[in-house]
Amino acid sequence: MASPLDRSATWPYGDGEPGHFSYARADHPTGVACEEALGALDGGHALLYPSGMGAVTTVVLTMLRPGCTIALAEGAYYGHRVLFDHVSPWGVNVVEFDQTGQPPADADLIFVEAPANPLLTMPDLEAAAAHAAPVVCDATVATPLRLRPLAHGADVVIHSATKILAGHDDVLAGVSVTRDPELRERLHLTRRLAGIVASADTAWLVHRGIETLGVRLDRQEATARVLADRLAAHPAVTTVRYPGFSFLISFDVADREAAGRVERAIRVIENATSLGGTRSKLEGRHRWEGDRIPPGLIRLSVGLEDEEMLWSDLEAALDGA
Ligand code: PLP
Repeated sequence: MASPLDRSATWPYGDGEPGHFSYARADHPTGVACEEALGALDGGHALLYPSGMGAVTTVVLTMLRPGCTIALAEGAYYGHRVLFDHVSPWGVNVVEFDQTGQPPADADLIFVEAPANPLLTMPDLEAAAAHAAPVVCDATVATPLRLRPLAHGADVVIHSATKILAGHDDVLAGVSVTRDPELRERLHLTRRLAGIVASADTAWLVHRGIETLGVRLDRQEATARVLADRLAAHPAVTTVRYPGFSFLISFDVADREAAGRVERAIRVIENATSLGGTRSKLEGRHRWEGDRIPPGLIRLSVGLEDEEMLWSDLEAALDGA
């Protein structure tokens, strides 16, 4: 049975007292149903937000104080770096580190990404967990079906549910999951006070998306494996990054111009940003990220289309690159 969608912003008191649901900025039944399903996937207490960045903002506001230093994984989603720089006037510092090794000794919060988008390195979660600072792991690309960072010592897991959790490019959403009930309450308080709350419609779409997560991921991953191998053998491709699981690949062509030619030549794959949806997408990332990545880096998110159709499209575009 599909879970009900309740769009109310307010619910009547019982016997003159607010009940479990009274005002939707605190909690609403459609959100809580979705959070229970998300929490079960990751093995913790989930909170839903109106975007992945809403989740990250809530974590930063809750867990950091002026003077604190965030150690951010190099090559992680560039929006994290931009957000952390943006909040620097509030006294938050950011340093980047190689997440395959030890985090810097003076970090107050360790922020890793599994795998990093778009450089696709995997964090050494054991090394991060051995550090005194709390560990936040963005596992958007891994999904809870391939990695449960809480079981490896992370304190908070983040997902952009906009990506493969919801999976259809029709909703923006984010998730935090933690095992510590006290931390969950602090995150919930920030979310409620700041109003960083996902709507019932958003929650309903995410909940529906995770019902098919397993079959979508299996298929997208199987196709990604085939495409990663074929890309590695194509003469126009100099580097392929694929962590061996999930749906995201990044590869390099000669330069930014060659990446632009691939973008314009594809016919089946969409030339668009984002990842994890049912339709494959690619884009040259240099336009967004500048020199933190190679100029010819193309990020490819593999969708549900037929693998031969996708390869013909890519091969033709690369032949002309
Ligand atoms: N984390 C990762 C790995 C992402 O790729 C993105 C967006 O691309 C985000 C977080 C931010 O999520 P949202 O766009 O839902 O705010």
